[in-house]
Amino acid sequence: MALSQLMEQQKSYYLTGATRGLDFRLAQLKKLKQAIVERESDIIQALRTDLNKGEKEAYAFEISIVYQEIAHVIKHLKRWMKPKKVKTPMTHSGSRSYIIPEPLGAALIIAPWNYPFMLAIDPLVGAIAAGNTAVLKPSELAPAVSAVMASILRAAFEPHYIAVVEGGVEESHALLEQPFDKIFFTGSVAVGKIVMEAAAKHLSRVTLELGGKSPCIVHDDAHLKLAAQRIAFGKFSNAGQTCVAPDYLFVHRSVKSKLLAYLQEAIVSFYGSKPLQSPDYGKIISRRHYERLRHFLNEGKVAIGGLANDLSLQIEPTVLEDITWEMPVMQEEIFGPILPVLTYDSLEEVIGRIQARPKPLALYVFSEDKKVQDTLLERLSFGGGCVNDTLMHFGSTHLPVGGVGESGMGSYHGEMSFHIFSHMKSILKQTTKFDIPFRYPSSKIGLKII
Ligand code: NAD
Repeated sequence: MALSQLMEQQKSYYLTGATRGLDFRLAQLKKLKQAIVERESDIIQALRTDLNKGEKEAYAFEISIVYQEIAHVIKHLKRWMKPKKVKTPMTHSGSRSYIIPEPLGAALIIAPWNYPFMLAIDPLVGAIAAGNTAVLKPSELAPAVSAVMASILRAAFEPHYIAVVEGGVEESHALLEQPFDKIFFTGSVAVGKIVMEAAAKHLSRVTLELGGKSPCIVHDDAHLKLAAQRIAFGKFSNAGQTCVAPDYLFVHRSVKSKLLAYLQEAIVSFYGSKPLQSPDYGKIISRRHYERLRHFLNEGKVAIGGLANDLSLQIEPTVLEDITWEMPVMQEEIFGPILPVLTYDSLEEVIGRIQARPKPLALYVFSEDKKVQDTLLERLSFGGGCVNDTLMHFGSTHLPVGGVGESGMGSYHGEMSFHIFSHMKSILKQTTKFDIPFRYPSSKIGLKII
């Protein structure tokens, strides 16, 4: 079917009002959950094929996050959908004011390859919850997951309500030419700009979930052993191909060598002494991405890891020291299992360095001192993050996830997903029992503002 025809079908289905009722939305969310439950093993297998994700990681990072999101939305949707009463100023006496959330219409969701299931279905849950129709464009770089999602969604839904368009840049461009009411994009900063430009043509609303270099700061008073474990977890899960992974380590000079020793311990305890032989250690998504990462291995000095396998497209969990801010590894988002380490002597230095760069998607602070934590949280702008942990904020349905500045625009998850796929319509309902005529040009009574 031509995309313009699909668009028209979705728009006219939306205009029938069928997608708007609470019962309909809840039924579709339950149907989606059931369809996923029935195909869980296929999804896990596809994640293994595309990214060599182990079953535990696939379940924890992709499937269970989606289940949590669906359960949370089902529990709260009735309350979110209710018109919200707000105060009315004295000057508007006789009237009542409220806000009605309404769906936007037809939504387009463009997904990335790194968590190809969760990052496609989580926004879809938001689009359904808010009463929209949706077209999902999965990433062509995770073809097995793309195919399973297409098969699940096509079996569960009619294309005039939820459709999947598989493909790459060409299909994405063609979709972006259509007058969608909402575009939800997850991916790189460069493509985010293309999406926003395309959205401007139709004034489609956009949410951009982008990336960037997320710092991980380890202060001299941090619980180093735990910090190392939580950093290794955040950095080397999915072979570092996580948008909110710590991109680089910024550690107080006095604790660097201790932290590196603990990092080594954590890596061995997670993946053994030969991680490339670990059955559940992730692979790099494509040869092009692998080659880009391999070049970084020549920068600075390898402190941990450093081996790579050209055939399986795997790179060991690697820590690089003797790194400078000018090196290529510090110029772009790494998005792989390579962790450069930089050191600092004062918090002002940390603040200055991070402020001088684009606002990151995530930031992590490891310190026992509330003053240190608060100073960094207050002075630095970033999408979201954790104190004394990594990644975990992403998995909470109560915390909106999104970037700021170059790392993105708008947030989602839980109630915020409902918000970004809705329009908040303001209504003032006026009485006809009496009238206060001073606002009319004919009124002789002046309005005195005190
Ligand atoms: P990408 O921007 O290359 O691709 C994302 C999607 O856009 C894919 O579906 C792709 O087919 C499509 N696309 C690619 N080029 C396009 C073009 N020229 N025009 C239109 N569409 C195009 O991103 P990626 O490589 O899939 O993902 C990696 C990036 O995504 C990283 O920067 C990462 O930080 C970011 N990311 C962010 C989040 C988040 O939640 N903020 C989550 C995951 C990934």
